[in-house]
Amino acid sequence: MGHITEMPETVASPLKDGSHPCLILNADYQPLSYYPLSLWSWQDAVKAVFLERVNIVDHYDQEVRSANMSMPLPSVVALKDFVPQNRSPAFTRFNLFLRDGFACVYCGSGNELTFDHVHPRRLGGKTNWENIVAACTKCNLKKGGRTPQQAGMVLTRIPNQPNIYELQAQGRRFPPGYLHKSWMDYLYWDLELET
Ligand SMILES: [Zn+2]
Repeated sequence: MGHITEMPETVASPLKDGSHPCLILNADYQPLSYYPLSLWSWQDAVKAVFLERVNIVDHYDQEVRSANMSMPLPSVVALKDFVPQNRSPAFTRFNLFLRDGFACVYCGSGNELTFDHVHPRRLGGKTNWENIVAACTKCNLKKGGRTPQQAGMVLTRIPNQPNIYELQAQGRRFPPGYLHKSWMDYLYWDLELET
């Protein structure tokens, strides 16, 4: 977008003020804040895109248009420059996939990724950084409710809690827009997986 210098003034469909808020992620793909959730108006989000301060991670169906350009209305943007914060990465689906490089820890496949409890839940396995890994559906089914040893499967990495720098480094390997569709990927671990 580097050659576009003019801010869009008109939009394809009338957007109300306060509609279409945009989720703001830090450069580590974590929301800038949770309480309150970091949201910008669509106007501020579009402005930040033009100022090249953010990458568009996901967008609404609507477009913003002016005489000489159009762009999808951002629903999630990530800051290009990391804003330092004293915190550990949030335990979210996206961050977990990011840690594992969007690949199954057993076979390396990136297809049909799911989450696996290394130590099975029925044996008391917890839902945390140390016990959840990205696994493809095939490996997940094969492993079933067993430990890797019982299933004769080998973890290619030991799951741990990553720090923000590790996630940032991983984030640079995957372009914005990779494999994620909704805000929920960036927020809380899905309760569905806990039950
Ligand atoms: Zn696999």
